[in-house]
Amino acid sequence: MLVIFVGPPGTGKGTQSKRLIRYLDAVHLSTGDMLRAEIEKGTELGKKARTFMDQGQLVPCEIMVNMIATRLQELPVDANFLLDGFPRTIHQAEELDTMLGEMDRCIAHVFALETDRDELRRRLIERAREEGRPDDTPETVSRRLEIYDAQTSPLIEYYQKLSLLRVIDGMGTPDEVFARIERALTTDGNSPSSSK
Ligand code: ADP
Repeated sequence: MLVIFVGPPGTGKGTQSKRLIRYLDAVHLSTGDMLRAEIEKGTELGKKARTFMDQGQLVPCEIMVNMIATRLQELPVDANFLLDGFPRTIHQAEELDTMLGEMDRCIAHVFALETDRDELRRRLIERAREEGRPDDTPETVSRRLEIYDAQTSPLIEYYQKLSLLRVIDGMGTPDEVFARIERALTTDGNSPSSSK
């Protein structure tokens, strides 16, 4: 099974992804984590990505598409996996459709986590305090939210048209939100064991 999370920064994609990969026994592909690992290792890719990330900008599409393509090719053909942070633009979604078509795989669910803006800003400021992420400053947070609205939110309609979208209320405790995700998975008649 292939599951995608879409939602603005601070909406809880990372937290819910960690729970869902345990539940589905799936591989977690988080582009934010992959990029941060490249930065940590000091690779050329990491250095290039950092200049965009620190300003709250998107990393250029060709870097991201290559990164995801490489990781997808490494996965066993029947692995369950969860994409967190990719796709982030319509162009990336179309590239993903092409890659999955070549692998004879399809998307099972796209979860859109919805949280109100005041709560998002509160969570991001708290994360900045706890984790010290350089892209969690007030200016970059505002830019990331603007970029989400302009470039990522059109994915909601894109996946709605494909009947893949499951809108999840992201307000409440992580347990409450996860219970909604679990319900959405089971009401669709899919069990964690179903592959593809
Ligand atoms: P968040 O969802 O909180 O914004 P992520 O950890 O998913 O954080 O991503 C951090 C940063 O990494 C983004 O602001 C962006 O610069 C970069 N990034 C991650 N995924 C992508 C992507 N698919 N396309 C372009 N840039 C990306």
